[in-house]
Amino acid sequence: MEYGLLGRRLGHSYSPEIHRLLGGYEYELIEKEPEELDGFFSDREFKGINVTIPYKIAALKYCDELSERARRIGCVNTIVKRADGSLYGDNTDYEGFVYLINHSGIKVEGKQCLVLGTGGASKAVCTALMDLGASQVLTVSRTGENNYINIYNNVDANVIVNATPVGMFPSCDESLVNVVRFQRLTGLVDLIYNPAHTKLMLQAERDYVPSANGLRMLVSQAAASSKLFTGNNYTDEDIERVYKAIDFKMKNILLIGMPGCGKTTVGKLLAEKLNRELIDTDAEIEKRTGRSPAEIIKAEGEAEFRRIETEALRDISLLSGKIISCGGGIISPKENRGLLKRNSNVVWLQREISALASEGRPLSQIIGNKELYRYREPLYMESAEYIINNDGNVNDTVNKIIEAIGL
Ligand code: NAP
Repeated sequence: MEYGLLGRRLGHSYSPEIHRLLGGYEYELIEKEPEELDGFFSDREFKGINVTIPYKIAALKYCDELSERARRIGCVNTIVKRADGSLYGDNTDYEGFVYLINHSGIKVEGKQCLVLGTGGASKAVCTALMDLGASQVLTVSRTGENNYINIYNNVDANVIVNATPVGMFPSCDESLVNVVRFQRLTGLVDLIYNPAHTKLMLQAERDYVPSANGLRMLVSQAAASSKLFTGNNYTDEDIERVYKAIDFKMKNILLIGMPGCGKTTVGKLLAEKLNRELIDTDAEIEKRTGRSPAEIIKAEGEAEFRRIETEALRDISLLSGKIISCGGGIISPKENRGLLKRNSNVVWLQREISALASEGRPLSQIIGNKELYRYREPLYMESAEYIINNDGNVNDTVNKIIEAIGL
């Protein structure tokens, strides 16, 4: 083994793919129990490793030399075996976090920052925030002086960084604070990257506060580690190329738009072209209830249908790498507009109103497409990141979507 990631439980990790895309080398996942660490480090059968939960502090004692940065932070996430066999430890989470901040549009200079969690990532983040000129950096811990009971004593904070695993897939509905109470908030950073928009991020975004997830940090820290492993230099363009590839792969492409605008047809072709599974929210509802949306609306009304739809969307929004075609009114409940974005690139498919099919679509028939559109247009606008016209050829529409999302 030359390169890899040492941790206790690694599950699915994007690191092997990130390192392959960066440097073209193999990168293994190394799961060890605490009592196996002595043997692993005395064998030293690696050229370079990253270290993750829970060994970032434990690994310090195996390093013969530490970088100045790792010493200041108090933990390592990268260890390189030098030509003489000695181990050099560094912390590239620091560099990854600085890169993330510099690409997020979030200002930390002169700002009061609140960092949730006191583990390895929090240590690197706090050191970086001070170096970037934050006026104050407070950590919040379940057991510390600043905790989640008295956290609202700090509602003047300008920037919040979540450096805990709370909110990570599959427990995406969890969060440690209510961001809405921080009226002076100008930025929210969540080191989590699955889902792409955590609950904290969605709360911030609803108040138009800029937010960023941890994927850029993950790729950038990998590039900094790779430089230590191989001597390769990586430019911002290299990091962005890998970031985009992983982001595209992780997220779903989710289609919204008026009934009859072509979501199913475009979705099928998109799924075929990208070799991804197609999920149709209406088909999912039919599978769950044994009834079509039209039948549910007719028998129990639109409100009951929307309740069932939100329940289905809550599960579908946790998926990764799918094509999702949604019912036309899915944007109506406020809760849904957050769920749509949670792990998806949301594409609003537009079509000339007179060309919209209304057969088998009860709301289009009862209310009329023009009236329906008048009410829904701002909601589509609020939900969509990409707006694509589907008045022409379906193949062209699919190509436009792929091009817009950035592959
Ligand atoms: P860690 O060393 O295990 O520390 C996590 C900290 O979070 C703990 O020290 C704890 O602080 C707090 N915490 C844990 N469980 C909690 C819970 N149920 N409720 C409230 N607080 C809890 O892990 P880490 O390496 O710092 O990583 C933390 C998070 O950052 C993880 O989600 C990890 O995936 C992410 N991360 C991302 C990147 C990236 O590149 N994007 C890099 C590193 C880490 P207290 O005990 O003080 O409350």
